Amino acid sequence: MSIQVFGLPVSRGVAIGRAVLVASSRVDVAHYFIGADRVEHEIERLRGARNAVAAELESLKLELPSEAPHELAALLDVHLMLLHDESLTGATKLWIRDRHYNAEWALSAQLEVLARQFDEMDDLYLRERKADVEQVVERLLRELAGADAGHFVPPVQAARDFAGEDPLVLVANDVAPADMMQFKRSVFTGFVTDVGGRTSHTAIVARSMDIPAVVGAREASRLIRQDDWVVIDGDAGVVIVNPSAIVLEEYRFKQRQSELERARLDRLRHTPAVTLDGQAVELLANIELPGDAAGALDAGAVGVGLFRSEFLFMNRGGDLPGEEEQFEAYRDAVVALQGLPVTIRTVDIGADKPLERLSPQELRHEHGLNPALGLRAIRWSLAEPGMFRQQLRAILRASAYGKVKILIPMVAQLGEVKLVFEALARARQQLDDAGRAYTPVEVGAMIEVPAAAVMIDRFLRHFDFVSIGTNDLIQYTLAIDRADEAVAHLYDPWHPAVLQLLHRTITCANAMGRGVSVCGEMAGDAAFTELLLAMGLRSFSMHPARIAAIKQRMLRADTRLLAALMPQVLDSDAPAELMRLVAAGRTAH
Ligand code: PEP
Ligand code: MG
Repeated sequence: MSIQVFGLPVSRGVAIGRAVLVASSRVDVAHYFIGADRVEHEIERLRGARNAVAAELESLKLELPSEAPHELAALLDVHLMLLHDESLTGATKLWIRDRHYNAEWALSAQLEVLARQFDEMDDLYLRERKADVEQVVERLLRELAGADAGHFVPPVQAARDFAGEDPLVLVANDVAPADMMQFKRSVFTGFVTDVGGRTSHTAIVARSMDIPAVVGAREASRLIRQDDWVVIDGDAGVVIVNPSAIVLEEYRFKQRQSELERARLDRLRHTPAVTLDGQAVELLANIELPGDAAGALDAGAVGVGLFRSEFLFMNRGGDLPGEEEQFEAYRDAVVALQGLPVTIRTVDIGADKPLERLSPQELRHEHGLNPALGLRAIRWSLAEPGMFRQQLRAILRASAYGKVKILIPMVAQLGEVKLVFEALARARQQLDDAGRAYTPVEVGAMIEVPAAAVMIDRFLRHFDFVSIGTNDLIQYTLAIDRADEAVAHLYDPWHPAVLQLLHRTITCANAMGRGVSVCGEMAGDAAFTELLLAMGLRSFSMHPARIAAIKQRMLRADTRLLAALMPQVLDSDAPAELMRLVAAGRTAH
């Protein structure tokens, strides 16, 4: 039976594929296809892991002290029985043989199927056996990881490149931003999560992958079953499970239309972004890793406006990247940009981007009740001065290879500004002492806390440029957690208070002759292009995939007419409606 699930649209287009359900705790399990010649080898890996786990359980049983409760031995017997049960290892082999999944992926796929079956059982005793299956699978996964450590690099292969395979879409309760990174070059052609807001970092990484995605779809991972056919409408935020033939055909048509539209926009890639009245606009790229830099150039970006350096810091088991490793990453991005500017943001760890993969309970314990208001971004950097100087040295050293700018996230206090410049002076001194080369770099601040926007003139006395982080600016102005789907309907970029802060920041920076850009998601959303141009913004930083569509809007805009509308927009109770009419050419400018 076909069902629909509603969520928040994150990334445009339509994806049609079979569902791959992944438990949040297992999102980091490797997902890749194996070639036909590797099937037997993969089954052998699974068999080896099963035998090793069986031996481990047998020896645990033998070592049980005689006074151990009888239940313990019984539990080990249950685990041994599950291990040899056809519904686990036998069915897992089918995922490997028929679908060409790697062993870890096949195991987690089968676990999802079994977990559903247990959830639906009436008998409480049997329902509770789900935890036992999970433990057995955990042991198998650990064994597979241990046995393979270091000598097999999974071939990352896109699903569409794998002849004969159906496209796949990922369905999960939640995916941490760092885990999303591993899907950047992976097999999935779309994804759905139960939780998350439109500007959560998970959604941001999904958008950068340029595949259709829906987040905050609440019940999706419960309603969708492993292998169901799923349509993801990333424009409408709708997921259709097991669509009828007619609906499927309709979406295939929509999919073809959006591919045609994409191809058409593609031709604009290297056209300069100049408005009808001759105003040049700078379109920059947001990137997460140095490997994204070449794609940014290819998409027509004239520089990187935001390199989110924290992705180099995440999921490393507490081991932070050292100066050399960071330097190489920044240098690679700078070299790839061939002389165009690269704006490197100092690490923005915290809130929904913890260093470690933590459960919500652990997150609360480690980072307090309100991590978005806690030790995050520049606050964390200033609390770890050695780490901060190390990052500054690495960034400064990369400046010897091209044009680098430094961007400081989340400044809110003038005291922080002073400490930042002191840290920079010390980092430069340390490089001088070590005889390391660097060049002068511009230093800018993210304006994403209302306090900084309100006193923008005071901040601009210290910084060469500012970049407005609308994702956080909206979150903090409206007191709406950007990652919480329960309040997503209140997350309103058009809120008059947000517009006033944006307008104030852009106008003030322009008046003081300082650079100003927007690097939050608003910059890549065509609904806001005319508004931001009207406010006087001439520099936009966004996911590379959005550049062509935004450029198309710029080419049709007349900034003189738009600017004249600003007083009316700021005074309006319905600015979104007003700007929609303007964009459609239905008001007298
Ligand atoms: C923002 O807050 O708008 C921004 C660009 O930074 P991030 O999304 O990484 O918090
Ligand atoms: Mg931010």
